[in-house]
Amino acid sequence: MGTTEQVDLLIIGAGTAGLPAAIEAARHGLKVTVLEQADQTGGTLWRSWAQLSAGGTELQRARGIDDSPAQHFADVMRISKGTADPTLVRLAVEHAPHTVDWLVSAGFDMDPDAPAILYFHEPYSLPRTYWGRRAGRSVLEVLLPRFERACEDGAVTLHLNTTMTALRTDGANRVAGVTATGPGGEVIEIDAASVVLTTGGYSGNARLFPELTGGAPLVGPGAPTSTGTGLLAALELGAKTRGGDLFLPTYGGVLLPDSPTRTVPLDDYPQLTPQARPPWEIHVNARGERFVAEDSASVDVRETALLDQPDLRFWVVYDEAARRKAPPLLPSWTEAELDDAFATHPSFSRADTLAELAELAGVDPEGLRTSVEEYNAGVAAGNDRFGRAHLPLPIEQPPFHAVRNHGSTLKSPAGLVVDENLRVVGPAGPIENLYAAGEALGGSTLSGKSFVSGMSVTPALSFGRLLGRRLAGADQGSV
Ligand SMILES: Cc1cc2nc3c(=O)[nH]c(=O)nc-3n(C[C@H](O)[C@H](O)[C@H](O)COP(=O)(O)OP(=O)(O)OC[C@H]3O[C@@H](n4cnc5c(N)ncnc54)[C@H](O)[C@@H]3O)c2cc1C
Repeated sequence: MGTTEQVDLLIIGAGTAGLPAAIEAARHGLKVTVLEQADQTGGTLWRSWAQLSAGGTELQRARGIDDSPAQHFADVMRISKGTADPTLVRLAVEHAPHTVDWLVSAGFDMDPDAPAILYFHEPYSLPRTYWGRRAGRSVLEVLLPRFERACEDGAVTLHLNTTMTALRTDGANRVAGVTATGPGGEVIEIDAASVVLTTGGYSGNARLFPELTGGAPLVGPGAPTSTGTGLLAALELGAKTRGGDLFLPTYGGVLLPDSPTRTVPLDDYPQLTPQARPPWEIHVNARGERFVAEDSASVDVRETALLDQPDLRFWVVYDEAARRKAPPLLPSWTEAELDDAFATHPSFSRADTLAELAELAGVDPEGLRTSVEEYNAGVAAGNDRFGRAHLPLPIEQPPFHAVRNHGSTLKSPAGLVVDENLRVVGPAGPIENLYAAGEALGGSTLSGKSFVSGMSVTPALSFGRLLGRRLAGADQGSV
């Protein structure tokens, strides 16, 4: 790439939203340039579960499931308790079935159990969640060959290891191009008729996360490429943000042994979904107190209770009888890996007495002793003070175990305000020529202060496709 260049459409970030934007724009005849800071395309899809949601798909019809975008919309607003953005949710759910149908027609390797009602997030009222057999990689198996073909055809020019550092205006409320840093550290200026920010979120940036999220700590499995630099560049132009006050942690997650912020991959989280595995353990905070019915059918109830606990931390406490009799708490871990974790991992503690366990884990011993006593009395009486129904065994047989968990982050809540045409909004209204899609819009925009199944990946794909078509002059409808 030269030091200055003039392009029609410049897409910043080749991930979940950026790839389909480029594919669609190229398919409709536009020359596209894509900047990607990493040394590969794909963004968060390499690690995302990429569960999708859509109401009114061909797959649902084939299974006799009567669903529609209107029902999907109503469910999103119910689950988010009205905190999601209704305009963008409506746009997302209207396009969602087309996105899923498109993936299927393109050979998406759909899991045979989909669509289903899943319980990791608050459940939909209908089977409306879809996922590929290789999670995000199944989505990439559709996107990457199409993107690479567009690159080979010359319709898309991809620059890897190239980071957009600033957006430039022409003095008016209009973006004229970007400044970027190339693979060798060289500064590059690119003029563009339109710029699309598909730079993702900021859940890989532990310093920025609390700044944009009301002080909430970052702990999670986010991609290191989720740096938030696209958001920061737009903020420099005066772009408005929203959603930083809508943080809700995912219930649980174990840190990597050597990191204060990064968790093990999502597949290696403890199984804390009661619909999948009723709990044999209790969950206590740093004071040693229980704070919720561990088997509450509503994950929203458990996540909201966790929000009030010190440092969003809790310990899953159990005894030897549960270790032997219960289904595995950490299903993907072998016995050898667990033994090693209890010997060396700072989040795993094991001891012969509850007092010793509390000491090792960093939990108040008196609080823990009281909580276990009360829980055991509840098990004996069949009446738990938190209303927990699954009370299989008392916690009384040493050694005792504690696994520290955190309220974790799968997506960053805050993002750019956009209008109904996905134009980024600045102090003087929509900024001309500047669009955004994906998690750059804020993970809370389409889910509010909750998690709504599929409402990150599906809209990222849909809005990316929509922008690609629209900016190429196709699809003159709304966006
Ligand atoms: C473990 C995990 C599981 C998840 N599971 C689900 C799920 O099941 N369903 C769901 O809906 N959502 C899920 N999510 C969230 C969802 O995957 C993301 O919100 C979505 O993939 C983000 O897409 P995106 O296009 O906005 O960003 P990304 O896919 O992250 O792409 C952004 C790209 O932009 C690049 N970039 C960033 N800044 C710059 C810059 N300045 N210059 C150049 N390039 C830049 C990045 O390197 C990256 O490649 C999950 C997230 C995680 C972490």
